[in-house]
Amino acid sequence: MSDVINVTRSSIPSFEEYCEEIRPIWESYWLTNMGEKHQSLEAALEEYMGIESVCLLTNGHAALETIIEAFDLHGEIITSPYTFASTTHAIVRCGCTPVFCDINPVDYNIDVDKIEALITEKTVAIMPIHVYGNLCDVEKLAAIGKKYNIKVIYDAAHAFGVTKDGVSSACFGDATMFSFHATKVFNTIEGGALCFHDHALTQRVNDLKNFGIHSAEEVPFVGGNAKMNEFCAAMGLCNLRHIDGWIEERRLAYLRYVERLSNVPGIRLCPPQKGVKANYAYFPVVFDGYKYNRDEIFDMLARENINARKYFYPITNAFECYRGRPGFDPADTPVAAFVADRVLTLPMFAGLRTEDVDRICDIILK
Ligand SMILES: *Cc1c(COP(=O)(O)O)cnc(C)c1O
Repeated sequence: MSDVINVTRSSIPSFEEYCEEIRPIWESYWLTNMGEKHQSLEAALEEYMGIESVCLLTNGHAALETIIEAFDLHGEIITSPYTFASTTHAIVRCGCTPVFCDINPVDYNIDVDKIEALITEKTVAIMPIHVYGNLCDVEKLAAIGKKYNIKVIYDAAHAFGVTKDGVSSACFGDATMFSFHATKVFNTIEGGALCFHDHALTQRVNDLKNFGIHSAEEVPFVGGNAKMNEFCAAMGLCNLRHIDGWIEERRLAYLRYVERLSNVPGIRLCPPQKGVKANYAYFPVVFDGYKYNRDEIFDMLARENINARKYFYPITNAFECYRGRPGFDPADTPVAAFVADRVLTLPMFAGLRTEDVDRICDIILK
């Protein structure tokens, strides 16, 4: 039986590099609460992304909930259901109402031409997702945010390292969330961040991630606990040294997939975006009118020990936990429903070999 190839594989430094990075923790006895590693990683990420403020958190989901609280949002948030559970759940768990906008069929991001029709007097924000690392139409979204005086908060869980005309994905909107989960392009084991230009917001987010405690005797917010610990921050410091090389390795796998699968009738790939330096986070393929359907391809790969992923399927407005709630109906977002039924993300990670990509493509094309 041939080797197992999973849809992703975490990128990690050498064991020795990580041990060296965590040595000072043994000397300082400082394990968490915004220690030296935490501070260094925030500074390193601010530099890498060219953004004024990066706040680290335990995970991307906590970052989403924290920014909704930090902006004190109450009302409707326009988003798309073509995402991971986290985006929709964060809105609902914070007491807001998600209003689902459909996606466009090219890059699977929110369809910016359908947003304005969904705006009501209750709309407080838009929460778009840079799906698969494809950037949303950030100019149009900024214009809509400004016109209606509502926040634009990006779920950039997939978009670490992506730039548009040299500007980092961290820099668009009123705030941007990253996930540094083990499966993402850049990881801190578990982790996440909020990025923004507004220094006043930094203090608020820092208070909210630490029980709302501002100083020893001042507790201005009802905050939770979402602090990144020193071991996770140390992993991030190591991984940041390698990130550009790892994205290049992903690019090589991407190029091989494109060589094998583009111009095959019935197989649709995402086109490159103009001015965008990609991170090759995922390799989504839509099977529309191909000789095998998505589920057949998924099973054919699985029989050969290749674990692709139906990502995103189901879409969040079809989740069992939301059944019967007004406004949660996949029929309202037909493009998202169509893509979700036909999409498969193929294995993609730094170190995926050309011969592995060929093995995968041979099965799909046979
Ligand atoms: C991974 C992911 C999240 C959640 O991030 P965690 O760090 O796992 O909490 C949110 N949104 C999207 C689109 C994701 O892929």
